[in-house]
Amino acid sequence: MKKHNFSAGPSILPQEVLQQASQAVIDYNNEGLSLIEISHRSKAFVDIMEQARALVIELLGLEGKGYKALFLQGGASTQFLMTAMNLLETKAGYVNTGAWSGKAIKEAQKVGNIVEIASSSDANFNYIPKGFEVPSDLDYLHITSNNTIFGTQFKSFPTTSVPLVCDMSSDIFSRAIDYSKFDLIYAGAQKNMGPAGTTLVVVKEDILGKVTRNIPSILDYQKHIGAGSMFNTPPVFAVYTSMLTLEWLKKEGGLEAIEKENEKKATLMYSEIDLNPLFKGFAATEDRSPMNATFNLVNENLKETFDTMLKEAGISGVNGHRSVGGYRASMYNALPLASVQALVEVMSELENKA
Ligand SMILES: *Cc1c(COP(=O)(O)O)cnc(C)c1O
Repeated sequence: MKKHNFSAGPSILPQEVLQQASQAVIDYNNEGLSLIEISHRSKAFVDIMEQARALVIELLGLEGKGYKALFLQGGASTQFLMTAMNLLETKAGYVNTGAWSGKAIKEAQKVGNIVEIASSSDANFNYIPKGFEVPSDLDYLHITSNNTIFGTQFKSFPTTSVPLVCDMSSDIFSRAIDYSKFDLIYAGAQKNMGPAGTTLVVVKEDILGKVTRNIPSILDYQKHIGAGSMFNTPPVFAVYTSMLTLEWLKKEGGLEAIEKENEKKATLMYSEIDLNPLFKGFAATEDRSPMNATFNLVNENLKETFDTMLKEAGISGVNGHRSVGGYRASMYNALPLASVQALVEVMSELENKA
């Protein structure tokens, strides 16, 4: 039986994407060759790469606005360093909203001068700082739109006169916002787009080429753009599967349609957390993430019973991150509403039992 997959990442992909991707590994397009045994310079793969890059720009509403999409390697973790290498000259600002922003700060500090503009570390990152001033003398401001571990999300974004850089690893393609507010977006594929192995970068070209540093080629966005996102052999399977997910998303109606679905799932999940006296939510109500819902049992003694019930209902991947504890239900684009219904049912059954 297929399980209800609430994994935080790598995470659920549409069933039809898994089927198409697995078929392509055996025989791509009935060409008698596997997708993963053909040249990345073949027309077949160049077309896939170009289609994937174009879909990214189209779905984000960034056509004709000077942006380029790249499928790179090294995970979002490499972007912590790469953004700084390409953009940091004198000083950059970071908003610290949890573990991943902390890591981004740590890497950027190896490159240059970093100022923490705002932080929610005073409350174990259970909220998003608001109302902070962004100095105008920064090279850029870096934020993390969705905090996968803590379950918080920026609902609106700081207004800045400096380039805005955003780690969107866990909520890219989940909502219809104005993406042209951002000058550089990056996201590991494995949360909401595809398998692990590729990292999406969407960059406004005119912010590049302004630092005096001699950037190593593999870390230089301009080199990757010049090479059509094929500076070195790209992760062909991860790019192809991401392309299939983007095609699926377009067919589903794009970001506006998926946002509605994600809202339905989040409303169902959070109303159970709020109304069921056995559970309490972790994140501040106004900042709760529709992607990752974090919650705890009020009475830890019920843990064994609850975990057994979850297992019996085929619910997988809801254990919280070690730094928060409790539970985390990740509800990425491909997770059906029925899976959230199944989880909510188990939570209310527990209430009836207790
Ligand atoms: C998972 C995650 C990362 C790390 O991604 P890798 O691809 O493993 O390097 C970074 N930022 C956020 C917000 C994440 O959720």
